[in-house]
Amino acid sequence: MTDFEKTNKIAEPISSVLTPSYGGRMMRESVPKFRLPDGEMEADTAYRVINDELMLDGNARLNLATFVTTWMEPQAERLMAQTFDKNLIDKDEYPNTAMIEERCIKIIANLFNAPENSTGSSAIGSSEAVMLAGMAFKWKWRDRQKAKGKPTDRPNLILGTNVQVVWEKFCRYWDVEARYVPMAPDRYVIDPQETISKIDENTIGIVAILGTTYTGEYEPIKAVHDLLVASNEETGFEVPLHVDAASGGFVAPFLEPELEWDFRLPLIKSINVSGHKYGLVYPGVGWIVWRDKSDLPEDLIFHVDYLGGDMPTFTLNFSRPGNQIVGQYYNFLRLGRDGYTRIMDNLRSVALYLSQTIAQMGPFELLSDGSTIPVFAFKLKNPDKYSVYTLSSHLRMHGWQVPAYTMPEGAEDIHVLRIVLREGFSRDMAELLVKDLTKTIDNLENQSGAGGEQPARHFAHT
Ligand SMILES: *Cc1c(COP(=O)(O)O)cnc(C)c1O
Repeated sequence: MTDFEKTNKIAEPISSVLTPSYGGRMMRESVPKFRLPDGEMEADTAYRVINDELMLDGNARLNLATFVTTWMEPQAERLMAQTFDKNLIDKDEYPNTAMIEERCIKIIANLFNAPENSTGSSAIGSSEAVMLAGMAFKWKWRDRQKAKGKPTDRPNLILGTNVQVVWEKFCRYWDVEARYVPMAPDRYVIDPQETISKIDENTIGIVAILGTTYTGEYEPIKAVHDLLVASNEETGFEVPLHVDAASGGFVAPFLEPELEWDFRLPLIKSINVSGHKYGLVYPGVGWIVWRDKSDLPEDLIFHVDYLGGDMPTFTLNFSRPGNQIVGQYYNFLRLGRDGYTRIMDNLRSVALYLSQTIAQMGPFELLSDGSTIPVFAFKLKNPDKYSVYTLSSHLRMHGWQVPAYTMPEGAEDIHVLRIVLREGFSRDMAELLVKDLTKTIDNLENQSGAGGEQPARHFAHT
């Protein structure tokens, strides 16, 4: 080390107090990314380096791909920041956080019209909730088979090809055959009759979705349920129904309270919902409710003697932040039924405005219109000139993230764009999106054949 370097090294912490933010050493050298750096850096510098990198992620509010909350009130953010340090599993140490979790479960059970003896749990999201629901189905089926002296080695679960990937995971991780009900070119939800026809004595349950991820539509849950009642009576099986209400569970109770999709239907034994979707909480919370304590097999519940208290748990994870639960409870208290209804009604109205406007533009045809959950999908009437994938990447140049993808098996030749509206998306923003979409299609329509993409007409190289 030269004298200069020595002096410089010793001098740096003192001089850095005066160094301009982007005048420091760390701003001109590459930061080590794949090994732990040898030395420390200042807190402000570390903050800046990371914050600057994350800027390139894009603006979460313009991300129309995600269902997950990207805006909460400052008061909720404050509460959640104050409770980052609470480990939800330490129920003995944080009994009030534990109580708040219990209240949230009760509130959701009540919202889903569950009977008195229901039970439930929070989870890290609907994915964990789905694993728990699937396990309960598998365990209960195995008990029923054992009681009849029947084999228990080939369980199956009936579900649409439109299910979210977590169901595939469940089937693979827990060794359950996934019996898929295909879609059709003009139908993106399960067909009730076809669903029921797949039942046999090894069926652990059926899954129906309230708000599919592809189009936002509600599956015909009551129709499936009523056919299942008849089927069970005929076969003597006790096949239960689970509703994946990840996205619709906090929409339907407010916008369509008369719609029977929940515990009002007796064969629905469990329902999952994502608190971080239309429950309006930042990512990290999901919920699962069982109709009756007996629908959750006792041997899946662990009674942990934790620092002197008996703590029943049924989750895959142990430690988890308690602050999302606090955020969920804040929303429940702050909004109440009226508040949620108002927000969902506004979102539906903006979604309908947007879908109708897009339908009238000319090149597009709607697959759904956002009248269930504020989510809709649309396709190009003539995909020869340009594709939904090109459109999607062009919209990204305006900052909008609108995903393009193919529909599930049975309708896989259809390529669509999907828009998910969340709290924080106003009519004004919808109008800005329409403007940019119009500009984008004008551009693409006037494009001169293959290869070259014309610059926007108003752009001048001055
Ligand atoms: C989002 C979603 C899931 C997964 O939920 P996470 O909360 O993201 O884990 C499962 N099913 C459906 C229908 C969904 O929309």
